[in-house]
Amino acid sequence: MIRFLDLYGQYLTIKPEIDEAMSKVLRESAFIGGEAVRAFEVDFAAFLGAEHCVGVGNGTDAIEIVLEALDLPPGSEVLVPANSFIASSEAVTRAGHKPVFCDVDAATYTIDPEGIESRINQRTRAVIAVHLYGQPSEMSAIDEVARRFSLHVIEDCAQASGARYLARRVGTIGRAGTFSFYPGKNLGAYGDAGAIVTQDPVLAARCRKIANHGRVGKYDHEFEGRNSRLDGLQAAVLSVKLKRLDSWNARRREIAELYGDGLRGVGDLVLPRERADTNHVFHLYVIRTAHREALIEYLRNRDIECGVHYPTALPDLRAYCSQQSEWKTPRASRYAAEVMSLPIGEHLTDAMVAEVVRGVRSYFAEAQGALAGE
Ligand SMILES: *Cc1c(COP(=O)(O)O)cnc(C)c1O
Repeated sequence: MIRFLDLYGQYLTIKPEIDEAMSKVLRESAFIGGEAVRAFEVDFAAFLGAEHCVGVGNGTDAIEIVLEALDLPPGSEVLVPANSFIASSEAVTRAGHKPVFCDVDAATYTIDPEGIESRINQRTRAVIAVHLYGQPSEMSAIDEVARRFSLHVIEDCAQASGARYLARRVGTIGRAGTFSFYPGKNLGAYGDAGAIVTQDPVLAARCRKIANHGRVGKYDHEFEGRNSRLDGLQAAVLSVKLKRLDSWNARRREIAELYGDGLRGVGDLVLPRERADTNHVFHLYVIRTAHREALIEYLRNRDIECGVHYPTALPDLRAYCSQQSEWKTPRASRYAAEVMSLPIGEHLTDAMVAEVVRGVRSYFAEAQGALAGE
């Protein structure tokens, strides 16, 4: 069985350290806040090269809290790529603003900087650059447009912990970076968890207050905030995993290379492309084919698990389709029918990767044989 994700297998490789880190939190009963949370915030900021890190409850809250902390006029418009998880746009609506979907780049599936300008009007205040599948968005082009129109750039780094754009880690380039540590992410906790990073001390302090009931002292509340905090057990897990993140990401890149070598030119496959200025961490290895459903089924019969990220472009979801006519994002809509994700992660051996490659190749060989035999 080649699993898409093997969280238990990963746990076994780091069990003594995880068990000890979690026991320590239990011994101290430091469940909310406390030493483990502070230590992770400091370590994660240092790892990224960020000045400030605020642990929060999850990656969706992280985006919402940043938007709230930016104090945009109610009903502001925020640009969001049409290919992402719904959290990227949901957070905009929840914060009292309007998501405006933009089409994606043909090669990298991240927001297309050329497309965003036509979506900007007087109400536009921010753009969310989602570093999708682990590949950084085209930050210099986005930054150039953002500067010209005075937009805040928020980096949604939920899928790209540790990825680099030029020499910098993602999350440190825009006004703020938001992270999700959902268990299946490339840096994952053992429950919901997230973080906000920024170079701006005022913004960081405001995010921290919002995430903790607007609190400045035990029962001293400056304003109404909310409850979205990173807990001690999750922080303890994350600190153990953070030490492995670069080597796990490097292994993902190795696997991506093996897939590239094995699958280039096979059938109608479109393989992922890494832009020269980025260090893609391959949270997901996403390919495109017109034969998606048949290929997934074929691989499932060979005990190979695949995924689809995402089967529907955001503007085409039921949640948004009443406003759909406003947002034409033809590329994202078309790709949604073709994308599929092959298994990737440090749980895969070279032999397993070779088996996936064999499976995909034999699907196309058989499909071609069937065509020739017709
Ligand atoms: C997972 C994800 C989120 C949301 O994170 P949660 O921790 O699940 O709330 C946001 N954006 C993207 C791109 C994601 O993949």
